[in-house]
This record gives sequence, C-alpha cells and structure tokens, in this order.
Amino acid sequence: MRNSLTPVPFRAPGSDGTGRQGYPPAPEPLPVPVMDNHTHLDFPFDELKVGIADALDAAAAVGVQGAVQVGCDLESSRFTVQAVEQDPRLLGAVALHPNDAPAYAARGELEDALAEIEALAAHPRIRAIGETGLDFFRTEGKGWPTSAIPSAATSTLPNAWG
Ligand SMILES: [Zn+2]
Repeated sequence: MRNSLTPVPFRAPGSDGTGRQGYPPAPEPLPVPVMDNHTHLDFPFDELKVGIADALDAAAAVGVQGAVQVGCDLESSRFTVQAVEQDPRLLGAVALHPNDAPAYAARGELEDALAEIEALAAHPRIRAIGETGLDFFRTEGKGWPTSAIPSAATSTLPNAWG
C-alpha cells in the first residue's frame, strides 16, 4: 500500500501514457537561487502525487533550493513533520486551517487537535505556524482564527499565512 511519502517519479507532460495534460514544461532557471516559502507537497496534482525528493529535484533544476512545507490540518501537519525529517531541503509550518477549525470543534476534537499541532510545532525543523490566515477569498473570513489560540510552543513561531 502506498503511503503519503511514497515517491512517485516526476513525469514530463504527456509522458505518463494516460492522455492527461500533465505538468507544464519547467521554466527557465531563476537568475538567483531562491527558497519557496509556502508549498503543499502533499496536495496531489490531478490524481498524481509527486515524491518529495522528485519535486525538490525538479525545483532545484530551476534555482529553487528548498521550500517551506505547510500543513493545514492534522493529516498534512503530520505529513509536514515526516517530510522535513526526510529531506534537508525542507523546513515546515503546521496548523489547523481556520476553515477546518469549526469541523474539529463540532466533532469535539478541537482541543486535542490543537494540542497535537502544538506538539508537532515543537519539532526543530518546524519554523512557523500556518496556515492560519482567515480566508476572505473563499469563505469571507468566517473560519476560526486558530492562530489566536495561545500555546507555549506556537507563541514563539512566526505565522505562515495562507
Ligand atoms: Zn497554502
């Protein structure tokens, strides 16, 4: 069984035999090296998940030397901690997205979820809390600002808004 960290080789557009559009061609390499400050390597593109090393190798080929992997719920925050342990080009951010907080609360799971986020945030390669910004684009800011909930571990980390 494939888990979320199982690598899938990066495939060039049209090379997977499925007839899907695939990824666009890589851009020209950047003139200076950069870091991607907000990415979600656990989000699949179409049905395809690209392995962490393959995604970072493709980014490095065009001048992106590393990235901040951002968790937005418990599952993706757990993935983030596993990912930063797997590849030294990654740092991480963990959180519950404000849009998801009401659902955790409705299930009676918000306190436990925030406690787990706090524990994950204590990992030395987790350097920010995010995503935590209120979503005015999709839900007009009707989520809960979980970043406003104080905790010992999260109070010293910056926010990775998104
Ligand atoms: Zn994001």
